[in-house]
Amino acid sequence: MDVYGIVGNPVGHSVSPPMHEAGYAERGLDATYVTFEPAEDEIEQAIDGAAALGIAGLNVTIPFKQDVFELVEPDPLAARIGAVNTVAFPEEGPPQGYNTDAAGVTRSFDHHDVAIDGTEAVVVGAGGAGRATAFALADAGADVHIANRTVERAEELAAEVNGATGGGLDSLDQMVPAADLLVNATSVGMEEDETPVPAELLHEELAVLDAVYTPRETRLLRDAAAGGATTIQGAWMLLFQGVEAFEIWTGEDAPIDAMDDALRDALE
Ligand code: NAP
Repeated sequence: MDVYGIVGNPVGHSVSPPMHEAGYAERGLDATYVTFEPAEDEIEQAIDGAAALGIAGLNVTIPFKQDVFELVEPDPLAARIGAVNTVAFPEEGPPQGYNTDAAGVTRSFDHHDVAIDGTEAVVVGAGGAGRATAFALADAGADVHIANRTVERAEELAAEVNGATGGGLDSLDQMVPAADLLVNATSVGMEEDETPVPAELLHEELAVLDAVYTPRETRLLRDAAAGGATTIQGAWMLLFQGVEAFEIWTGEDAPIDAMDDALRDALE
């Protein structure tokens, strides 16, 4: 049996095990997916141990995405993003690192028939999710503007992303009315019913993806729907980052509907 898992701390509430196991069952794969919660200073031993034990693949979540980046050989996209959320353990050579949050963003738009190439995109946030989103959208042909509470972080990220601009949250006033795509990659909207983007800036030409997936329908998405925009819940990004990892690990097309059903049940 192949053993996959997710490494994080805390990780007990992860919805990845049922999502991936539904995929294995649908494809008839003899595999399981479990949670691992190493102490914060034991991640290096955890990755070495996983390799030695023949673990087939790991997802990586808070607080280890940057640490694991240093412990694996990142692919070119993960190297630019500077964080790894998926590790594969080949039979020969070092563990390979990937960042499937980027595909989580682009595949969410694709799934909703929203084109990225040639669009004006605004990314709110310049942390891990913001970095993955900005590189993903620019690589797919969007002109990207990054707005972040800490302005320097947005400007530093913009300097790394092809053709991107950066600014503070006040730059949203100018950028959102002219944008085609908007992604919230901050944690705003998770703990409290708040939004990082004033409702009056949202419009019907916009497609809005909120990376926040609890609650499913954030205030930003409610405001966007009220303004006539296309809305895409963060659960889609979560699904497609998992779908991408499944495909990297197994080499098979992921059974998207089965994984989606299991994820939605787990998020209830
Ligand atoms: P992170 O690296 O800690 O970055 C947090 C970001 O949120 C930073 O840009 C930070 O701005 C901003 N922020 C935090 N509090 C804020 C506030 N009160 N007002 C304005 N901006 C604020 O976190 P992350 O890993 O990028 O995750 C961000 C969100 O994306 C989380 O909700 C996470 O669950 C979600 N996420 C979802 C998926 C998915 O698959 N759906 C994948 C990855 C992440 P500063 O730079 O100014 O601190």
